[in-house]
Amino acid sequence: SSFLTMNLSRPILKALTSLGFNKPTPIQAATIPVGLLGKDVVGNAVTGSGKTAAFIIPMIERLLYRERGKKAAATRCLILVPTRELAVQCYDVGKKLATHTDIQFCLIVGGLSLKAQEVALRARPDVLIATPGRLIDHLRNSPSFALDALDILVLDEADRMLSDGFADELSEIIKSCPPSRQTMLFSATMTDSVDELVKMSLNKPVRLFV
Ligand code: AMP
Repeated sequence: SSFLTMNLSRPILKALTSLGFNKPTPIQAATIPVGLLGKDVVGNAVTGSGKTAAFIIPMIERLLYRERGKKAAATRCLILVPTRELAVQCYDVGKKLATHTDIQFCLIVGGLSLKAQEVALRARPDVLIATPGRLIDHLRNSPSFALDALDILVLDEADRMLSDGFADELSEIIKSCPPSRQTMLFSATMTDSVDELVKMSLNKPVRLFV
């Protein structure tokens, strides 16, 4: 399988070349075509499988496609991850893949100033990469912050977010997102609580086990 047969745009293909990503990993080969169609996805994937690019590539493509009809700045994508470290890693991958675009990424994690993040959120960055606890802080306390224009929600390392005690935060965040969005969920293990989260947050998902 090849990135060249996936109908990707030039900015992404150029970024893949610079990164030295010559061919898709199995989770990328499975996820990208389904993600591009806007369908919900459940992927059984661990760190190291290339899952970050698997969801960020279709996300960027859909943002670029949407750009033409875009009227006002709006936060269209939210990626939730369990830890600050994973958020930073995801942010780095996103920035690299989007080098040749004007897509704006914003990190919303603990340890950084709430006020500075509030200012950054007011500019309506295209993609938020957040930990559930910090995102909830903003949802509850920043009157101008909302997720009502969201097109794509990613729940990464869902099993870990649940075992870290974020179940209530996750359901509160999911309820704040428009029901018509696309949702992509990744988890190393498929526990009962992950299944429950899938039922609550995804609509007829395509299940990818690679
Ligand atoms: P992840 O599972 O998303 O944490 O990615 C694991 C590592 O694989 C990262 O260091 C990526 O830079 C690298 N990677 C992701 N996709 C590819 C690819 N298609 N070809 C080569 N390396 C990749």
